[in-house]
Order: sequence, then C-alpha cells, then structure tokens
Amino acid sequence: MEKKYKILIVDDDAATRSLYSDVFRAEGFKVIEAEDGLDGINKAIANIPDVIFSGIIMPKMDGFGMKEALSKNVATSNIPVVMSSHIGREEDRKKADEAGVKEFFVAGMITPKEVVARVVGLFSRVRYKLKLNIKGGDISKLTNDLGLKEDFSCTNCGEDLVLNMEMTNVERREFTGKIICLRCDSSQA
Ligand SMILES: [Zn+2]
Repeated sequence: MEKKYKILIVDDDAATRSLYSDVFRAEGFKVIEAEDGLDGINKAIANIPDVIFSGIIMPKMDGFGMKEALSKNVATSNIPVVMSSHIGREEDRKKADEAGVKEFFVAGMITPKEVVARVVGLFSRVRYKLKLNIKGGDISKLTNDLGLKEDFSCTNCGEDLVLNMEMTNVERREFTGKIICLRCDSSQA
C-alpha cells in the first residue's frame, strides 16, 4: 500500500486486539486500540481512523451501539466499519447489514490474514485495463446496446477503447467495468 492507513481495533479481549494489531501492522497499517464501544467512539473522534475493526459483544457499549453513535456524528459517519463476530449469529449479520457495516466476519471461519486482505480491499480497489478485441455474433448487439463503433474505436479520437475493470470485492471476485478511451479519458458507456 502506498498510503499508511490508520485502523482502530475495538475489542474487549486483549488477546484478540493484540492478534489483529500484529497482522494489520505487518501489512503497514497504523494501529489504534480501544477496549469497548465507548472507548471506540472516543478514539474514533480523536484519531479519525480510515477504518474501524470492531467486535460485537463488549461491556459498556457493544459494536452495534458504537456503529450507531459513529453514524450520527458528522466527523465519524463516513468511516467504514467492519465487524467480527465470535459466534456468527445470522441475526447479527442482518443487523450489521442494516447498520451499514462494510464487512462482517465470523471468527474461526476466516483467518486474520484474510480479514486484513478484505479490509485492504476496501481501499485499494485494483484496476485493470483490457484492450477490447471481441469477436463473435453478439458484437453488433453489444456495440449497438452501448452506442459504440463496431471496431471499438473512440467515437471522438479513433483510439482503441479499453475495458477498465475495478475489483470491488477480492473474495467474491466482483468487478465493475467501464469502457474508456485512454486518450480522451472519457467514459464511452
Ligand atoms: Zn478518444
């Protein structure tokens, strides 16, 4: 990673905090720790981390209470929150979805290294540029549907268009794609 991201790790279990602190630091993150939801809110406001990794069940305030409070505060409302559950109840996953939690992990189902990869994936969306050279019967339909020329050249400058693919979820191999002209840098579809 080019930029050093700041992560706030919120968990009442010191061993869990220390485990994730180590793996995130190894990936180049700057790590801040908090012991429960209330401590998490205070440290989020004081440090404005790039992402928050939180447990669910904690004394004083749980992960959902913290997420709700952070969402209501203008300073912290845009910080992505990912949650880790020890028991993986389906209702927690649903609650996390509804609360706008970016990723929901079940401890034991995913290794700490995979957790880090998913969190990194939130920031470093990988981009690929593929030159278009599609042959086959659906070309006319495709170019027609997208308003492109059949030889995939830019309607503006004639340069070959490329397919710009951006990975949005590494684990599920999901991409968003856009056909662009590198010279005009204008979106053609
Ligand atoms: Zn062009």
